[in-house]
Parts: sequence; structure tokens; C-alpha cells
Amino acid sequence: MGTGYMLRCRKCRYEISANLGIGFRFPLAYQETMEAARTGTFGKTIKHFLEDHPDGALNIDEVFLQCPECGALKAGPDLSMYIRNPDVQRKEQGRWSVALPFEDADYVSPMELEQDRSYVYYAPGQICEKCGKPLKSITEIDLMKNDIASGHNTGQTVLSCPECKESLWVDGIIMWD
Ligand SMILES: [Zn+2]
Ligand SMILES: [Zn+2]
Repeated sequence: MGTGYMLRCRKCRYEISANLGIGFRFPLAYQETMEAARTGTFGKTIKHFLEDHPDGALNIDEVFLQCPECGALKAGPDLSMYIRNPDVQRKEQGRWSVALPFEDADYVSPMELEQDRSYVYYAPGQICEKCGKPLKSITEIDLMKNDIASGHNTGQTVLSCPECKESLWVDGIIMWD
């Protein structure tokens, strides 16, 4: 389940492809990613974050990641870190129920992290290895939005070629099931 995007530079022929989104695999993918994060697969910062915040969450959406400084481009999980909102927690302690909409679930979706007040953004998860700048996440929705906004499906993306800085274009979409 997911959608594969092939992006290409029309000037230098650079290309990159990635499978974006998680779909129905989400609960399992979340567990796997959190386990990997706790054992240090994604680096010390995230490992320490989860040690300090055992109820913290990560955005595991599969995205394109680009450095705003040097243009380095890769695909992978977003990994932005979120902590439980202390205001929401404080309020809940005085109530009968502390149930959150997704309290029974053992995963948190990227949408819940962004829209639900139970979590607040803490820090970026992916840093450019060269410049140390937080990488900018381009989600599947960003790619589609851009396409629709262009009005005529040009396929031009908001990403730029890491080699020559020209625009990257959607050259192919593969649906998996
Ligand atoms: Zn190029
Ligand atoms: Zn960089």
C-alpha cells in the first residue's frame, strides 16, 4: 500500500524515486519505527528524546527530505519529534476520563500529531549531514497540492535538483497494493 513517485530533472537527468505514505500498514509501521528509534537506528538525538520522553511521538510519514541550505535530497521517514501537550495533560488529571481520541491505539498518525492538541511539536527529526540544518519535508500531499495548484498537471514539484538546482518534475507514479 502506497504510491511510488519518480522525480526527474529535465536538465541533468538526475532522478530519485520513493514510496510515499504509509496507508493501512500504519500501526505496524509505527511500532517498527519506534522500536528502531529506541535502539538508535535514527541517531542519538532521537534515541535520547525517547528516553527523556517515553510518551513522546514521532511523525513516521514517508516523505522527500530536502536541505534548504545545500539542496541535498533524500527520501525517508519525517521523524519530527512531538511531546504530549502539558496543558492538555494537566486538564485531564482533574477529570473522570483521561481518554484521548486515540488513547487505545498504539500509534499516532501524522495527521493527529499536526491537528490534535494532545501533542506539541518538539524538534525536527532529520538534519542535513553536511550543513546541520533541519531538512524540509515534502509529503505526498505537498506533491499533489502543487500539481493541482498549477492547474494543468505540469508535474513540476516544489523540490529542486540537488545537482543543478533546477526544478524536479514528477516523471512517473506507481500505485502499489
Ligand atoms: Zn539537475
Ligand atoms: Zn545541507
